[in-house]
Amino acid sequence: MPAFMEPFRIKAVEPIPFPSVAERDAALTEAGHNIFRIPARLITIDMLTDSGTSAMSAAQWSALLSGDESYAGARSFERFEHVVRELTGYPEVLPVHQGRAAERIILHELLGRGDVSVSNTHFDSTRASVEAAGADAVDLPVEYDEATPFGGDIDFDRLRRLLTGDGGARVRCLVLTVTNNANGGQPVSLDNARVVRQICDEHDIPFLLDASRFAENAYLVHHRSPETSGTTVRETAREFFRLADACWASLKKDGIANIGGLIALHDADLAKRCRAKVIETEGFPTYGGLAGRDLDALAQGLLEVTDVDYLRYRAESARWFAGVLAEAGLPVLRPTGCHAVYVDAGRLLPHIPPHQLPATALVNELYRAGAVRTTELGTLVFGRPGTDGATDIPAPRELVRFAIPRRVYTASHLEYVAEVAERVVAKAADLRGYRIVEQDDVMRQFTAILQPVE
Ligand SMILES: *Cc1c(COP(=O)(O)O)cnc(C)c1O
Repeated sequence: MPAFMEPFRIKAVEPIPFPSVAERDAALTEAGHNIFRIPARLITIDMLTDSGTSAMSAAQWSALLSGDESYAGARSFERFEHVVRELTGYPEVLPVHQGRAAERIILHELLGRGDVSVSNTHFDSTRASVEAAGADAVDLPVEYDEATPFGGDIDFDRLRRLLTGDGGARVRCLVLTVTNNANGGQPVSLDNARVVRQICDEHDIPFLLDASRFAENAYLVHHRSPETSGTTVRETAREFFRLADACWASLKKDGIANIGGLIALHDADLAKRCRAKVIETEGFPTYGGLAGRDLDALAQGLLEVTDVDYLRYRAESARWFAGVLAEAGLPVLRPTGCHAVYVDAGRLLPHIPPHQLPATALVNELYRAGAVRTTELGTLVFGRPGTDGATDIPAPRELVRFAIPRRVYTASHLEYVAEVAERVVAKAADLRGYRIVEQDDVMRQFTAILQPVE
């Protein structure tokens, strides 16, 4: 059996749209050349994100029907709490409606004005929560290349320097994001988490795990480090939770469901304060902004997600997909993780300068050529307005992310994407860049209006 073969068969299907060339051109113009503004009914293969886009299993769909919609103390909560306790080992379990609610609630309990949160890399919503609390978010990822198995790790030298330096006392929490989404979805090693535990003990700061992709991280750790032989992926995941003091997660990723999040922790006093915030902003603490049936689907998803056949397929299909994109001529980044394949648009389109958004040019051409939707992670997302107000300070790299929704697309869908990519590569030299004609201050990629450069 090929390692990337889907370890499931399909029970419910949803037709996908095939807009014509004329419809695609019109959609791009109508959307101000911004892929976020194109309606899903005009997308053939949607690789915008792996968040909330999963296909649920038959067992999850049937769990929905046993959902208990009691306002307080629903059986659905008990089932969810049981699965989360067994997985994480934390006694205190608080459901919330999605990851950023969890981040806002726990980080605003821990951080105040002038404080610092340090991380391998804060995810963008995590950074937003830290900054909204008046604190600074400091990212200390390791440098990595194709030969680095754990490119998601935090850099200890820089971490120790920060903690023993002048501002060391301002550091109030350490966040380890597994996998490191903002850093190419690279995994964090168990050794890295162990040393983080020691450093947090030495400096008396809480160790928080952003566990949104805990299962994919545990699988990659298993695959890349021999020390885990003889243990299960679930045991490896548990070891990460055991090392940390508390976790939060967006369950729109490894919950394999369409909505949900959680906070789980040891500290009963902190849990009490978080619960008060949940009541204020999410709902009664046994449903936390979710329906009872969501909690049941999530409890089932959290059991399925550590299945080795599923995780092997997830990692191997990403690896295989990176291979077919590379054959099509796209410069892909390696090693691949599980949730996406990243492509270096800066290398494909060296004639387009960063301020003319080469990654956006590639994203838009993939749409024009075959209604494939990807995300730009280049200067449109990470660029900052320069001092002259007109030109941007460019992003470090011009990347395009092909996110892979869980259990949604088959190998032939991904082959279609590679065919579309090949057509785009053939005319790469003729592609033109874009300029921004309208933008908002925050998360400008969602709303910006662009125009092709003449
Ligand atoms: C998605 C994500 C979040 C935020 O979760 P939402 O459910 O989108 O609010 C936080 N951290 C990481 C690593 C994520 O991938």
